[in-house]
Amino acid sequence: MRSEFLQTSIEYLKGVGPNRAELLRKELHINTFQDLLNLFPNRYIDRTHYYKIKDLQPSSADVQIIGTIKQLETVGQRSGKRLAATFQDETGMIELVWFRGVKWLRESIKMNMPYVVFGRLKWFNNKFNIAHPEMELLSEHNKSLRSAMQPIYPSTEKLTNRNVTNRVISAIVQNLFLETKGEFSETLPEWMCTELRLLSKKDSLFNIHFPKSQELLARAQFRLKFEELFYIQLQLIRKNLIRKTKIKGFPFSQVGEKFHAFYNDHLPFELTDAQKRVMKEIRADLGSNAQMNRLLQGDVGSGKTIIALMSMLIALDNGFQACLMAPTEILSVQHYNNLRSYCNKLNISIKLLTGSTITSERKKIHESLENGELNIIIGTHALLEDRVKFQNLGLAIIDEQHRFGVAQRSKLWHKNVSPPHILIMTATPIPRTLAMSVYGDLDISVIDELPPGRKPVKTVHRYDNNRLKVFRFMKDEIAKGRQIYVVYPLIQESETMDYKDLMDGYASIDREFPKPQYQVSIVHGKMKSADKDYEMQRFVNGETQIMVATTVIEVGVDVPNASVMVIESAERFGLSQLHQLRGRVGRGADQSFCILMTGHKLSNDGRTRIETMVKTTDGFEIAEVDLKLRGPGDLMGTQQSGVLNLKIANLIKDKDILAQARYYAKKVLNEDPKLERQNNITILDTYAKLVKYRNIWNYIG
Ligand code: ADP
Ligand code: MG
Repeated sequence: MRSEFLQTSIEYLKGVGPNRAELLRKELHINTFQDLLNLFPNRYIDRTHYYKIKDLQPSSADVQIIGTIKQLETVGQRSGKRLAATFQDETGMIELVWFRGVKWLRESIKMNMPYVVFGRLKWFNNKFNIAHPEMELLSEHNKSLRSAMQPIYPSTEKLTNRNVTNRVISAIVQNLFLETKGEFSETLPEWMCTELRLLSKKDSLFNIHFPKSQELLARAQFRLKFEELFYIQLQLIRKNLIRKTKIKGFPFSQVGEKFHAFYNDHLPFELTDAQKRVMKEIRADLGSNAQMNRLLQGDVGSGKTIIALMSMLIALDNGFQACLMAPTEILSVQHYNNLRSYCNKLNISIKLLTGSTITSERKKIHESLENGELNIIIGTHALLEDRVKFQNLGLAIIDEQHRFGVAQRSKLWHKNVSPPHILIMTATPIPRTLAMSVYGDLDISVIDELPPGRKPVKTVHRYDNNRLKVFRFMKDEIAKGRQIYVVYPLIQESETMDYKDLMDGYASIDREFPKPQYQVSIVHGKMKSADKDYEMQRFVNGETQIMVATTVIEVGVDVPNASVMVIESAERFGLSQLHQLRGRVGRGADQSFCILMTGHKLSNDGRTRIETMVKTTDGFEIAEVDLKLRGPGDLMGTQQSGVLNLKIANLIKDKDILAQARYYAKKVLNEDPKLERQNNITILDTYAKLVKYRNIWNYIG
C-alpha cells in the first residue's frame, strides 16, 4: 500500500462520511486512514467461547450466546418503560432489555433469526438478563473479519452518545482493511526483523485489530511497541549526534586559575564521590568540541550548587561569561548569596537580576554584561528578556528545569551566535525510563549520594485529632533551638478555601505559640514580594522559630537549623512535592522530622503517597511510585512534550522494550550515522515519513 494513500482523509472511508469524520477528528484526533490504522485497542474481550443458556451462572460476567428472539414487547410505564425480548437457544431462555433506542430496535430486530448476543449478564427478578447487548446476525458474525479476541477501542462519551460505538469503530477499521487488502509496507529493516524475530508490519497491524490468537496478539503488540519506541529513540539520539558533530561548542580547553584557586583554597568540604564523578563528566563535555547539553539529577541536598559554581569557573577560566537561572526570586537570591561569598574571594564579578531589580541597577547590569565586565549573572526569567545581551556567554545553567518550558530553554540557547554549553539541574529524580524518553537527547549525570553525616529525615503520619501532641513536639524541638516549617497546600482551583485554611492555621499556631516567647513568620503568594523576603529573611536569621507557608518554600531555600517539617493536608500534595518539601529539613547535623498531617478519610492514592513517604527517603524510589500513580503525562508537566502520547507502548510496563529499542537505535546510528546503507533504507524512508506527516514528536531544535 502506498503510504500517500494512507494519508487520505478519513471522511472518504466507507462507513464514515463527513459527520462521523468530524466526530472522529474532534474526539480521537483521527484525520486520515493512517490515524485510524494506528488507533490501537486498549484491551480485548475474549469471545472464543459461546455459552449455552443452561450453563450460565450468576457469577458469569460477559457472555456470548447464539440463539433467536422469540418475543418482543414494550413493558413498563414512563421512565420505567423498556423494550424486552425473550432470547432462546436449545437449552433455555433469558431476557434482553433496552431502555434507549426502543423505536429503532423494534423496527430492525429480526424475529426467529439466529443472532449472536454479547453482554454483561445480570440476575434480576429471578431470571437472567442482558441490558443493551451487542447483537449481530449469526450470518454476519461468521463473515466478519473480527476474531475471537474482540478489540475495545478508545472512546469518549460523545462518541458513544452519537452512536459511534465500539462496534461502529470495529466496522470501519474492517472497511479500512478491506479497502487496503491489508497490504502495508514494512517499516523496519529485514535484518532487524530477523534478528528480533519480529512479526511483519502487515501481520502486526492485522493481529492488533483482529487477533487470531493470544500468541499472535502478543507478538503484534511487541513489534508495534518496539517500532514506536525505536523511532522515538532514533530521533532523540540523532539530534544528540547532530549536536555533537555539527553544533560546535566553545571548547574550554583549559581548566585554569580560578578553578584551581577555588578547588585548592576555598572548597568548604570534600566533594562526595558522586560529585567528583559528575564534575569529571562535565569537564569532559566542556573540553570537547561539541556543545554540552547535560541534565544533572540530584536529590534535594545532594550538593548541586557547588557543581554549578565549579562549572562556571571553568567557563570563566576560558574567557567566557556564565549564567545561572532559577525559577523563583527566592531561589535565585539564595543562589546569589551562596555564590557571592566565593566569588568575592576569587575576584570574580557576579550580579543578580530578577523582576524586582530596580531600573538603574538593571541598566548597569545590562551594560556590564554586554561589555564583558560582568562574569556571572544569576537570576530568574528576567534573564530571558531580549534586552539581556551577553558579550560571550559560554555556559548557561538552569536550576529546577521542569519549571521552565522547553521553549524557554531554547531562548537562552539563542542568546549567542554559537550556543552556550547547557547544564540543567533538577532535584526531581526522574526514573530512568522516563529520562531516557523525555531527555533522550540530553546526556545525563546523577549525584546519587548525599554529603556525609546526613541523618535520614524521620517521617511520621499523624491524624488531625492528634494535633495537640504535634504542638507539644514542636515546642520541645524549639526548646532545643530548632526551627520549624508548617506548610499548607495551595491548589489553584480551591484557592480561596486554601487561603482560609492557611490563615486559620496561622491564627491557631499564633495562639498556641504566643509572643514574646515564640515568633512566627508567614509567607504566601498574595504577599508583596518585599514582605515575603522580609519574613523569609527573619526565619533564615533565626529570629522566628516557625515559618507558616504555602508551597512557596517548596523549592530551594536552605535553613540548616530547620529540623521539623509539618505538612498540613498532606494527602493533597503530590509525591514529588512532598519529597521536595521534606528535603527542606535534614540539612544540618541534627535529627530532623517530617510530620504528615491528614484527616481520617484518605483516598487509596492518598494513602499510598503517605505510606511511601513514611517508608522511604529515596527520591528515585519515590519517583517510581509517583510515575505509577500519576502516569508519565502528569509528571513534571511533561505532557506538552508529546513524546509521552505514545500510541501503544507504555513507559512503565515496557521498560525492557524501551531499553532494547534504545540499544538498536544507538547501534544503527553508530554504524550508519546518515542511514546511507542499503540495509537501512527502510529506516531512512520510514523516518522521513514520520517526520513529514508529523507522526513523530519534534523535539526542540
Ligand atoms: P541541592 O542539590 O539541593 O541544590 P545544595 O547544593 O544546596 O543542594 O547543597 C545542600 C547543602 O549541602 C549545602 O549546605 C551545601 O553546602 C552542602 N554540601 C554540598 N556538598 C557537600 C559535601 N560534599 N560535603 C558536605 N556538605 C556539602
Ligand atoms: Mg539547589
